[in-house]
Amino acid sequence: MLTSVAEPPRRERPAYRNFRVAVARVERLSPTFVNVTFAGDDLADFGTAGLDQRVKVVLPLAANGFASFPDGEDWYTKWRELPADLRNPFRTYTVRAVRPAQREVDIVFASHGDTGPASAWAARATPGDEIVLIGPDEFGPGRAVGIDWRPGDVDTLLLVGDETATPAICAILESLPADATGAAFLEVPEAGDRLDVRAPRGVEVRWFAREGGHGADAAEGTAAGGTVAEGTAAATEHGALLAPAVRDWVVRHLADLGVARAGADESAAALAAAERADLPDTPLWDVPEGQSLDGACYAWLAGEASVITGLRRFLVREAGLDRRQVAFMGYWRRGRAELE
Ligand SMILES: Cc1cc2nc3c(=O)[nH]c(=O)nc-3n(C[C@H](O)[C@H](O)[C@H](O)COP(=O)(O)OP(=O)(O)OC[C@H]3O[C@@H](n4cnc5c(N)ncnc54)[C@H](O)[C@@H]3O)c2cc1C
Repeated sequence: MLTSVAEPPRRERPAYRNFRVAVARVERLSPTFVNVTFAGDDLADFGTAGLDQRVKVVLPLAANGFASFPDGEDWYTKWRELPADLRNPFRTYTVRAVRPAQREVDIVFASHGDTGPASAWAARATPGDEIVLIGPDEFGPGRAVGIDWRPGDVDTLLLVGDETATPAICAILESLPADATGAAFLEVPEAGDRLDVRAPRGVEVRWFAREGGHGADAAEGTAAGGTVAEGTAAATEHGALLAPAVRDWVVRHLADLGVARAGADESAAALAAAERADLPDTPLWDVPEGQSLDGACYAWLAGEASVITGLRRFLVREAGLDRRQVAFMGYWRRGRAELE
């Protein structure tokens, strides 16, 4: 007689959950960037999808660390119900690398001094410091939650961002197929902030430094996977170097973009209406679903909200890209802490 052994009930896994981890290593990559490696047994199950995967970094309270930080899927509701002095601050970051076998996750923090709790924490991070990450569970449903890179099936890729988007752009570049074509423009505070990144030969990578001069970086030219480093002689406004670079690239490549100029006016009008509807406190965020825009360009823009708004406006209103070809993400807003 056959006996059937009942399968143990499968434990439901949430798509996103808390991972209690500790700092394993801290590596200063450049004047602005610090890579913090977090380790913890639980990270064996951390989602590995990569790209621009975003997570929440929960910071300790001076009084009681994480003693009052709620666990479970409804952590946010419970957190909101806590008295203000028992609410741990948290901020959004990108996973730069995941090594499940080593139970490690890397996050690259762009320092902006002590003006925010996350930047201040990262500047002092020391091995052994405990922290909570809220991120994807590899075995939960919806592994793609928190990933906004959805280029569909396009020929030409354009990635543009400031230092806060640099970790995401680097991770995306390293994931691209060898025959990918396009460009990545990264604006960073100093010439020394140019990071090593692997990119396909057909993707031009240009770094722009707001401060500093043409240093040794500039001499590298296009030899390493199409990487060019550039500098400026004097301090420049945030985002001011990205706009002309994008404009110049569009002029040089417009014919290759498959830009639907016939639909440009309609798309620009829709954008103007959407911008009018933006409230001062709403996050500036518009991420199209992966489209199959055969032969077209997909642009991914992230960084300071007003800079990114200006770039999207140019691409849609002047260059004639369809709004659905542009993923646009305000990663932070000048003069405002991240909304929690
Ligand atoms: C999806 C997503 C992914 C992100 N990934 C990364 C990442 O991988 N690495 C990274 O460094 N950042 C990343 N950011 C940006 C980061 O969340 C913000 O910079 C955040 O505001 C930092 O928190 P804070 O506590 O240091 O400052 P906050 O308390 O939020 O802000 C305090 C003050 O600092 C200003 N400020 C915030 N960020 C900067 C900055 N970079 N430069 C100058 N002034 C600033 C604010 O305008 C405010 O006036 C990401 C944001 C999003 C939405």
